[in-house]
Parts: sequence; structure tokens; C-alpha cells
Amino acid sequence: MTRHITHWIGGKPWDGVAERHGDVYDPATGQVTGMVDFASAADVDAAVAAAAGASAEWGRTSLAKRSSVLFSFRELVKSHTGELAALVTDEHGKVASDAAGEVARGLEVIEFACGIPHLLKGGYSENVSTNVDVYSIRQPVGVVAGITPFNFPAMVPMWMFPIAIACGNTFVLKPSEKDPSASLLIARLLAEAGLPDGVFNVVHGDKVAVDAILAHPGIAAVSFVGSTPIARYVYETGTAAGKRVQALGGAKNHMVVLPDADLDLAADMAVNAGFGSAGERCMAISALVAVDPIGDDLLARIKSRIADLKVGPGDDPRSEMGPLVTGPHRDKVTSYLDSGVREGATLAVDGRVHPVLGGAGEGFWLGPSVLDHVSADMSCYTDEIFGPVLSVLRAPSYSAAIDLVNSSPYGNGVAIFTSDGGAARRFVSEIQVGMVGVNVPIPVPMAYYSFGGWKASLFGDTHVHGTEGVHFYTRGKVVTSRWLDPSHGGVNLGFPVNS
Ligand code: NAD
Repeated sequence: MTRHITHWIGGKPWDGVAERHGDVYDPATGQVTGMVDFASAADVDAAVAAAAGASAEWGRTSLAKRSSVLFSFRELVKSHTGELAALVTDEHGKVASDAAGEVARGLEVIEFACGIPHLLKGGYSENVSTNVDVYSIRQPVGVVAGITPFNFPAMVPMWMFPIAIACGNTFVLKPSEKDPSASLLIARLLAEAGLPDGVFNVVHGDKVAVDAILAHPGIAAVSFVGSTPIARYVYETGTAAGKRVQALGGAKNHMVVLPDADLDLAADMAVNAGFGSAGERCMAISALVAVDPIGDDLLARIKSRIADLKVGPGDDPRSEMGPLVTGPHRDKVTSYLDSGVREGATLAVDGRVHPVLGGAGEGFWLGPSVLDHVSADMSCYTDEIFGPVLSVLRAPSYSAAIDLVNSSPYGNGVAIFTSDGGAARRFVSEIQVGMVGVNVPIPVPMAYYSFGGWKASLFGDTHVHGTEGVHFYTRGKVVTSRWLDPSHGGVNLGFPVNS
């Protein structure tokens, strides 16, 4: 039986009849398991109306009350981690431990948002001029929207809404239509935590819903995470409509391995970061840059580790890597193995022949794959593949490796593996990438730092979560006040100067 997935508006599931729907799959079997309603512009309007209706009162709700709702929500997410992770595995395909990991990283942002009373403290200057005081406050922007990708259906929404609602905004989430169910469990848990109706709403759908959000005059700010072409579109369309927009895009993350690195560590990390979540992470390593002369040695160590990887359904505890999210995506990822060879690369590991626990059946499978002798002009290097394909490039020198990374149009994540502190330090300074790892392959910042890339990996000024998230979801106000003093008064048309 397929499940019916609908919107969440005004504190309850939507009871309308959708004109359009999408199929939701179990990627491990290839079977349709759900039908998700697609919102029309009118449905988005209903969600925004609910959010707008709740906005004034929620914005006025005390910091003590707002943070106590978040503390309760934190407990509920923690106690429902298994259920939330199982929904992610069912619709995305990632293995259970990976799904639980994404919930855990989302929880860290909720915990950060619990500290909102401290984060919203303003500044105060007494007696800036005689008897005049100045203070700064940050206020909510109003109704804000989040548009999120398929690859982290729990964590990426949690990058956004906990901070947005902690800051006093109300929220409309448009999750990926490929794995929409996690967002509804989140909505139920927020309601159970005591969040008033209308503060958090979910609309499902595709471009129609996104365009309605971007055009809606009632939405003040939009956070987007997804691929670069759509991020650019959302940024340009949203800002043209007068909204504040942060739009995080795609990536091509390099791992540079210097000859002095611990090659066993580097091989472990390349496999973890290349094939974890089947490479469907915006911080996955997709280009391994081996600085001469270690390429062959490193590749041999990587191949031996890949041979032992267990590929299978996400709910099988033996599985280390699951399927890809949809059949068309699997086919597109696989096409890079052929195009890479056509363009001169060597197929060092062909994931099409990797065994699948329980058999591949109709599932969307592709095992871990490696293309070697990749060069910077090949499409397997220039395109974001977003699957379990690691491209190995050889760089003649440390400087050539830095130049290669800095020539990429993307700038999300990068890692260097070395035993040389000086080389690492120079790398950190010179590399044009937003998140850098030193002997750490996936340098996702903690919740109290901010996540975001450079260049085509982020459109807008502010990164997500951390203090930049608080900044994005609030507007600053500076108040200059003078309380009556008998010495004040007198007409003076000159520009105010301080005395
Ligand atoms: P996507 O761009 O296809 O979709 C993202 C969102 O945009 C979804 O909600 C989708 O419904 C909507 N959308 C899709 N096509 C649209 C269109 N034509 N007009 C308007 N809206 C549209 O991305 P995806 O395939 O769901 O996710 C994978 C991508 O997300 C990868 O490129 C990955 O690198 C990126 N990503 C980036 C980060 C980051 O932090 N930079 C994090 C996670 C994922």
C-alpha cells in the first residue's frame, strides 16, 4: 500500500484535494511507496496566510517561552531519532547509521537554537552624548521560507527552521518531493513540543511551489539548498522580488594528498568521504588529487578497501552504502563512467559489477566506482556527479594542486592530507573554498559555526546556521534614546553632534 503525503498548514495536515502529485520510491527496491501532493500557488498562499497569521504573536512571545519550546522539541527529536532516520532510509535510501547521523547533526543546530536568549543579546552604550543612550536589537523578519534538497531530508531543514523560529519568525518549508515524509514527522514533533499552530508549515511540490514562494509578497526571506543552477535561479528571482535570499548550491570537493601524508589514513578517508551516502553529499569528496609520486600507491590502497565495502539496502545492518535516490539519477551518474573512459580516463573500479546484498532487483544501484587519470577538461571532473564516483587526478606539484582547486567554479569543501604543518597552513590561507579540512575529509562546521561555500556554491552573503543564521533571520535596529532632563531643549537645525 502506498502512503499519501500531504502538506502541513496551520498546525495540521492539509485536508484539500491536490491537482498534481508525485511518486515517492523505495530506492532499494525501485517500488513506488508513496504519493506526495504537489502544492499549487493557492496552496502556498494558504500556508503563507497561516504563517502570517501566527507571526505577530510568535514574534512577541518571550525568549524564555521560545527557547523552552525548542528544548522540548530537542527532547522529542532525540527520542524519535530512530523513526525519523527510518523515514529517511525508506525514501532516500541511505543506510540506517548514516540517516541517524544526519538527525544527530540536525539536533546540534536545534541545541544551538535553544541558546537564542544569549544569541539575541544586543549592545548598549550609556551616555554616548550627554544623557543619551544607544542600544541595538535584532528583530524577526516575519514569514520566511526554506527550500531543501533530497540528500538530507531531516538535517538541511534543521539547518534553517530551528534558528528562524527561535528568532521569532514563522516558517514555510518546501522539502524535496523525492523524500518528503521526514518533514511531516518534524511538523508533528514541533506541535507536540508546544509550537503554536501556523508557526511551522510544510508545502510539498516542485517548481510550481518554489515559484509561488519566490513571488509571494508575504514572504520576507528565503533559504535555499540544492543544485547550483536552481540556487542561482532562486537567488536572482527572490532578490528581484525584494526578498532576502541565501542560496547554497552544488559542489566539486577536492581532497589533496601530499606525498608526505599517511597514505593508509588518506585511503580510509577518501573511501569514507567518496562513498558515504553513495556520494550524495554536498561535502562528498569527488576529486582526489594525488601529488606526485604517490598516485599509484594511493589508488591501490583505495581499491583494496572498496573491494570489501558492503553495498545493500539501508535497513540491512550489514550495509555500508545504499542505492541512489532515483532511477534517472542512477543512470546519469553511471553515464559518467562511460563518458570518462571516452574522454581518456581509466575505469579503475567499475561499480556496476559490485555485488548488492540480497540482489539488485529493480533498485537504483551503482556500487563505488573510481575513474583514474582524470584531467580537468573531462566532464566527469567539470560536472557535479553527485554519486559514488571518485575521480583521481595526478598533480605534479603542491602548487599545481592548489591551482587546480582554485580554478574550480565551485568552492564548497576541500581537504588536504599531509604531515607538514607549514604546507597545511599555506593551503588554508590560499585555497578559495568556504570549508577547509586539514586531515579531515568532510569539514562540516559545527552548528555554532556557519556552513557555506564560496563561488558557485553559495549565492548571497550569509552562510547557514551559527551566528550568520541568526543574522539572516533577523533585522538590526539601533535605538538612540534621551530621557527627559531639565537641561534639554532649544531649537537647533544643525546636524546632531555629540556633546
Ligand atoms: P535540486 O536543485 O534539484 O532541488 C532542490 C530544491 O529545489 C528541491 O526542493 C526541488 O523541489 C527544487 N527545484 C528543483 N528544480 C527546480 C526548478 N526548476 N525550479 C524551482 N525549484 C526547483 O537539488 P537536489 O537534487 O534535490 O539536491 C542535490 C543538490 O543539492 C546537489 O547539487 C548538492 O550539491 C546540493 N546540495 C548543496 C548543499 C550545500 O550546502 N551547498 C547541501 C546539500 C545539497
